Amino acid sequence: MAACQAFGGFCPELSRAAKKGCLFQAKRTFAQAQQGCQLTLSLAILMTMRDVVLIVHGPVGCGGSLVGQTGVTKNFQKLRDEQATGLRWMNTNLDETDVIKGGEEKLRSAVLHAEKEFRPAAIFVLNSCVPSLIGDDVDSILDEVQKQVAAKIVPIHCEGFRTKIQATAYDAVYHGILRNLMEKKYPEADLIRAEEEELMRQYRLSRTVNLINVSSMSRIDEVELVRLLKALDLNVRILPCYAHPDDFETVDETALNVSICSTHDDYFVEHVKTKYGIPFVLRTIPIGIANTNKWVMDIAKFFGLEERARKFIDAEVAELNGALASYREALKGKRAFLTGGEIRILATAELLHSLGMEIMGLKGYHFDRFGARLLDEVLEEVPESERAIFSIGSGQPFEQANLFSKHKPDLYVGHTSGNGSAARQGIPVFPLFGQQYNYMGYLGVFEVAKRVTRILKNTRFNENISRHVKLPYTSDWYRQEPFSYIDDQGASKTTGEEEHHGD
Ligand code: SF4
Repeated sequence: MAACQAFGGFCPELSRAAKKGCLFQAKRTFAQAQQGCQLTLSLAILMTMRDVVLIVHGPVGCGGSLVGQTGVTKNFQKLRDEQATGLRWMNTNLDETDVIKGGEEKLRSAVLHAEKEFRPAAIFVLNSCVPSLIGDDVDSILDEVQKQVAAKIVPIHCEGFRTKIQATAYDAVYHGILRNLMEKKYPEADLIRAEEEELMRQYRLSRTVNLINVSSMSRIDEVELVRLLKALDLNVRILPCYAHPDDFETVDETALNVSICSTHDDYFVEHVKTKYGIPFVLRTIPIGIANTNKWVMDIAKFFGLEERARKFIDAEVAELNGALASYREALKGKRAFLTGGEIRILATAELLHSLGMEIMGLKGYHFDRFGARLLDEVLEEVPESERAIFSIGSGQPFEQANLFSKHKPDLYVGHTSGNGSAARQGIPVFPLFGQQYNYMGYLGVFEVAKRVTRILKNTRFNENISRHVKLPYTSDWYRQEPFSYIDDQGASKTTGEEEHHGD
């Protein structure tokens, strides 16, 4: 994947540098890790799946973050299926002796134990750094042990050391699913249907879409997106998150794959198109009015339903604008800084702009062709983005602290990993997503407006925190440029001091 992981400059500079193609060589000469690896993000997707066991093949620390997820995952699974069993996971607990002797025997016995203890529909085996470095032949072991278990075994090669781009976890997970869960138990050729039944089935499939969800969307988001698709009279099936392994057998029984995040889904939808001829929509995420409109219209165009979609959109937007009036008044001119996945923050920037806020800056975990396309749309639709800072890289709280010491936003929008640092600088925080909140579709715009207004009404809590805690950086660092440790980024370095608005 041609993806940039280090940049600091203004949005137009990023757009130009991406087009020149020189962006992707950039690197940091000093870096601070703060987030997870490819394995931890793979777990974030797979822990949602129903009736499975996850086996992390590695030292006991790999996947340890799952300890805090057990209860909530069960609750969120039950929102989709009352019978859901919740999160079941094991670790092969490799130690120093295994590094010498190999961990293959522990892996074999873990799979057999998972089968005997839980009888799951599938067993996902996530390979971590250690077995990969010591040369455990994971695929051969799993092929061999598959003959002894009824569950489908799915190897996921997501060793953390292989990449600095955490989002490659999506490809690793989809690769495992595509290779191991797509085979039908009952091939179409073996099924005999009456002519009328077959015609009904074909009609239903011609109006069915796969809504490809992500682990960072809530059940309320799903309900809202289903509402939008039902307005076009479409049948909706949701996967891969919170799906059952058997659901993947019928992935080809649809007219269209509908993605809500190109970073997440490009590998999957392109493979399904190549293998089964199923087309896909992969343009934007339905966050904010403009992007929700585009998302709905792209799907409507495929089914020839533009007129119906236009009427629906007009009615929704008119009602929403009426409901947003008082929030727009309260949020006017407030400056926001957003961090997260490139697609999500760019769409959220448009959302906040439509509420009257100004976008002071964005920080994406990485940047690739999908982000470049969306950034150009944001540069057109959000005028102040011409002067907004764009930083790229996961972690790097030292750069963020430096930047905020020079330009303090009124609101920080981000993930739990970065929210703490922003709060310690006294900045009010709005989480970029949460499993109990609605962000997507038209209802999501209203919810975001309501919650941001409430947060900005009283900002004393984080101001008090900043008076009593200190970030661990010296005054010398705050005198330097925030992106001075980034080399070869194909654009001029900047503090944002010279041109940035509002300072
Ligand atoms: S980077 Fe490697 S060792 Fe660390 S948690 Fe990820 S897979 Fe495990």
